[in-house]
Amino acid sequence: MNDDTNINITKKLYDGDAYLKEFEATVISCKESDDGRYKVILDETCFFPEEGGQTPDKGKLNDIDVLDVQTKNGIITHYVDKPLEEGTQVKGMIDWEHRFSNMQQHSGEHIFSGLVHSTFGYDNVGFHLSDNVVTMDYNGVLSMEDVYLIEEKANDVIFRNIEIIPSFPSDDEIKNIEYRSKKEIDGQIRIVTIPGVDVCACCAPHVKRTGEIGILKVMSVQNYKGGVRLSILCGKRALYAFRKKNEVVASITGELSSSEDTLVDSIQKIKEKGLSYKHKFSMACLKNVRRELEEIGADEKNVILFEDGLETATIRNLVNEMVEIHEGICGIFNGSDEEGYSFILASKNIDMKDVAGMLREKTGAKGGGSSAMIQGATSALKKDITEILHV
Ligand SMILES: [Zn+2]
Repeated sequence: MNDDTNINITKKLYDGDAYLKEFEATVISCKESDDGRYKVILDETCFFPEEGGQTPDKGKLNDIDVLDVQTKNGIITHYVDKPLEEGTQVKGMIDWEHRFSNMQQHSGEHIFSGLVHSTFGYDNVGFHLSDNVVTMDYNGVLSMEDVYLIEEKANDVIFRNIEIIPSFPSDDEIKNIEYRSKKEIDGQIRIVTIPGVDVCACCAPHVKRTGEIGILKVMSVQNYKGGVRLSILCGKRALYAFRKKNEVVASITGELSSSEDTLVDSIQKIKEKGLSYKHKFSMACLKNVRRELEEIGADEKNVILFEDGLETATIRNLVNEMVEIHEGICGIFNGSDEEGYSFILASKNIDMKDVAGMLREKTGAKGGGSSAMIQGATSALKKDITEILHV
């Protein structure tokens, strides 16, 4: 069979039983794709394809890894790296740990989005569920207080262990059901109901009861397209994230001999101390620079110094003083060959925009400024900068 349009739509075994891990099916078609993989179509499958923002199931057909699963016009295509004979029976096996985690995340998302909808009236306008991240985009702004309120309510729904019911209502029945839906759906609509919490059109497998989600934790909130983008984690993903954070906090508190409660204060103090040392060091450097400048005669046209440890404001003041005395280009490169230089250059008589252009071209310097003064950074070496500026 060469034309997919002659193939009947694939029976989705996960619709009837989201907990089915193994199945037997007939290979309807197996064709090599342009990238060397093989596209396998079965009469039925429990592999959930990439759909509705969720990445596909992983697993095996016989002993062959399933690399990707896509769906088009109701036909599910499994991508594998070895061919399977058409007409034969294959044994399919999905990566259950991966699938169950996806079910936990997706059911968690329904609870959260249902609560956001009933509490604030916002819709989930973008959902993404991959192996690394679960995000939802809402078309309204939620404060941190709002997010914590929904997070709290969502976990209460999880603890109440409510049944999650998928169904295929008839065309007549669907008219009387109020449900959330991200887009117009062709064909029969599958409705996922969490009684008292949410009713939503959805094609994905879900856990049977909310208790199986374990826990739902919001990991980040950011403003996004006039609303917010939230990331959440459920089940073991939340556990692993907590474990990782715990280890990071433990190692920092150990390093700073601090407790978790005083950690932020401790870091703040270290930061302040660092700034104060930086300032003292800059003042000491300034004394040296002044001594250097005293030794340079006023008839010297170009004066370029290489220093390390000066603060930006100090450099600007010095360069302003230098251009009052010297005719050519005056400036300071602050830093080292190893870590790169930041610079401020100025002149009373030369267009510094030309100099900025030259530094950009010859040293890859970044930055900009006016005809009188330029500021930027470069990773070029001192000897090359000196040569380029002819000083
Ligand atoms: Zn869904």
